[in-house]
Amino acid sequence: MSEILLQQTQVVRVAERFPEFMERFPDPAAMARSSVESVLRCWRGLGYYRRARSLHAAACQIVTVHGGKVPDDPIALRELPGVGRYTAGAIASIAFGRAEPIVDGNVARVVSRLADRRASAIDRAGLAWCWNAATHIVQAAANPGHTNEALMELGATVCTPVSPRCDTCPLRAMCASRKAGSQDLVPPPKPGAKRQTVVLHGLVDARDGTVAMEHRASGLWQGLLSPPLVPGPAGMEPQALRQASGALHVDAACARFDFQTTHRAIRFIVHAARFGRRAGLRRIWLDRLSGEAISAAALRVIRAARQDRPRADRLQP
Ligand code: SF4
Repeated sequence: MSEILLQQTQVVRVAERFPEFMERFPDPAAMARSSVESVLRCWRGLGYYRRARSLHAAACQIVTVHGGKVPDDPIALRELPGVGRYTAGAIASIAFGRAEPIVDGNVARVVSRLADRRASAIDRAGLAWCWNAATHIVQAAANPGHTNEALMELGATVCTPVSPRCDTCPLRAMCASRKAGSQDLVPPPKPGAKRQTVVLHGLVDARDGTVAMEHRASGLWQGLLSPPLVPGPAGMEPQALRQASGALHVDAACARFDFQTTHRAIRFIVHAARFGRRAGLRRIWLDRLSGEAISAAALRVIRAARQDRPRADRLQP
């Protein structure tokens, strides 16, 4: 559970929410008995919701294939939804004491500097080299789980990307980059990764204490509730939005704001709208939204349309 939560969320946030997860889903069987919606509800605010769906699917697979026990074999672990090489290595070594490596950005930096390897650590050859180096280290370790955690912690707190604290590093005597004085060159900087930019028009029909919501069938925030969202150019006319969404009426934009996800920069443009009966659309009480599986972005769209939004979101007259 903690490894899946930690895949894309900061440790501090996971630490806050972990007890709630363990209380509601103390073992794979408990999660498998619950609906995916209840896992999504518990996941609220942690982002990257595909992990919640994968976690639920993995719990179901553990129950049906492994009799409810998490397997300790990394190959069996990697067959679970949402479990890649890193997560399988973390579970196998930390939970079961198996001599399996873990490579994240911190470990890649540490092992690259120990060998003063100046080539990229993120291309295919670089990653293969890092996994190989980490494998050698963990296979020589008395406690593989502790060794993996120590390597990650060392990279996060001592062998940092900028200004590593070599004088306090327990590995300083065996570090080739330290001897060469090349710490700042290893590993070389990544070429800048560009986020995809997307415009989404949020159509909010809020009245009589309720708001019209639909389950997102695919793409971003799949499975979560949201006001209807229409992708399109920033200047999309209300008439075109009406046709694209099946709304009876769409107002001109009343607010806009920018929202970042892991891979996308999203510009939300918010409109008040009016929907009639429409398949997949249902009305949710506004004061019960907090108990629903809904993303932080969707909540902000609703707040923006209802005027209880930060000043920066509002369109100037
Ligand atoms: S000596 Fe410096 S560069 Fe080498 S592993 Fe330690 S902190 Fe990193």
